[in-house]
Amino acid sequence: MAILDIVKYPEPVLMEPTSAVEEFDDELRELAADMVATMHAAPGIGLAAPQVGRSERLCVLDLSVGDDEAELMVLVNPRVVEEHGNVKDEEGCLSFPDLMIIVPRPERVVVEAQDLDGNPIRIEGEELLARCLHHEIDHLDGVLFIDRVSPLKRDLARRKIRRRIQAQDW
Ligand SMILES: [Zn+2]
Repeated sequence: MAILDIVKYPEPVLMEPTSAVEEFDDELRELAADMVATMHAAPGIGLAAPQVGRSERLCVLDLSVGDDEAELMVLVNPRVVEEHGNVKDEEGCLSFPDLMIIVPRPERVVVEAQDLDGNPIRIEGEELLARCLHHEIDHLDGVLFIDRVSPLKRDLARRKIRRRIQAQDW
């Protein structure tokens, strides 16, 4: 198990859609284990493959940040099949260190995915879990949280990021 480097905005890999996983092999298992270790070390509650520079449709989530094994989810080829409601709340992203923005997301989502053996799984999430599932699956489509806010807010966030990159504080 290895802790991988987390890719930061504006690396192009973060803006590219991922490809479906077709081989459920040891390599996939190893990548998933490394992503879980990387998410826990960060620490974070979710991590998608592009954030470690990979283009597989794979993400990991753990709202307990390692405290409760039952909360760990490894989702292969996930997609949101239902979304209900809309709530605005503050969120962050490991690819945007220390940047918190208010983002609208569904209040409840239903996600279909596969496990590491290729078996179909279905997850219903509300509130923070819905937000996290939606955020991570967005990553797999090359969509970032700054893409979910108004152009004005996006501009402000980009300016802030540019200043921090120039100050080498990113
Ligand atoms: Zn993120």
